Amino acid sequence: MSVLSHELKTPLNIFYSTIQLLEKTRRVNKEEFSKVYAKYSNSLKVNSKRMLRLINNIVDTTRIDTGEFRADFGNYEIVSLVEDIAMSTVAFAESKNISIEFDTNVEEHYIKCDPNMIEKIVLNLLSNSIKYAKYSKYGGIIKVDIIVEDKWIKILFEDNGIGIPIEMQDKIFDRFLRLDNSLRRLNEGSGIGLSIVKSMVEVHGGSISVNSVLNQGSVFEVKLPDVLIDNVPMNVYKFNENNTEVELSDIYS
Ligand code: ADP
Repeated sequence: MSVLSHELKTPLNIFYSTIQLLEKTRRVNKEEFSKVYAKYSNSLKVNSKRMLRLINNIVDTTRIDTGEFRADFGNYEIVSLVEDIAMSTVAFAESKNISIEFDTNVEEHYIKCDPNMIEKIVLNLLSNSIKYAKYSKYGGIIKVDIIVEDKWIKILFEDNGIGIPIEMQDKIFDRFLRLDNSLRRLNEGSGIGLSIVKSMVEVHGGSISVNSVLNQGSVFEVKLPDVLIDNVPMNVYKFNENNTEVELSDIYS
């Protein structure tokens, strides 16, 4: 809880101190006010997104705990859904010297899923890959792979980042678990992202696992059942780029 309150207070303090500064310069002259606003407007936007993301995560966590966490299932084309979301992070990743590659063994495939949850799962895992890949000495490479098999569809997220110690690999899906070392601390997070991802995958009847080698990289595997809902139309989901900005907002530059 203290982690959460720290994470909530940080952006609030930034808003409050920026308002105070703007108030002060407003009394000086318009020009000064514009200058200060131009300097801090980006920080206001990023911190608003950060706060929105954290509040969304807290709401999801509460829903999980009270048993109100339900999916809105339909039949959706999963390949373009995952690809479009992954591609929406490319420009941001490139600005951090990280490339994102996407591959699939089928062009098109429909499954029963909640596209909003799939979006959160993909953005959350990619946000972690970007967060923890950027320390790679050789430049970051993230690979997103879709493998459609007999009864399952697998979505793999591979990075060549800092990796996760073996003894921690089954614990990172627990709520509030954050691994602590000097590199990771630069990217202090709330430690709730992966626990929500796990719940979302499980609501789909799937599972998530990780395979990682310290200092070499990690592969997260999401496994979803390859099923359809009878007598329901096939849909293609159009996702909103703003969600990408919100989900990536906790990556500090
Ligand atoms: P956080 O907000 O701290 O990123 P998460 O629940 O998303 O919370 O992740 C829990 C912990 O798992 C992180 O603090 C990090 O130490 C570790 N982790 C998650 N993804 C990766 C990854 N791709 N590479 C290395 N470590 C990771």
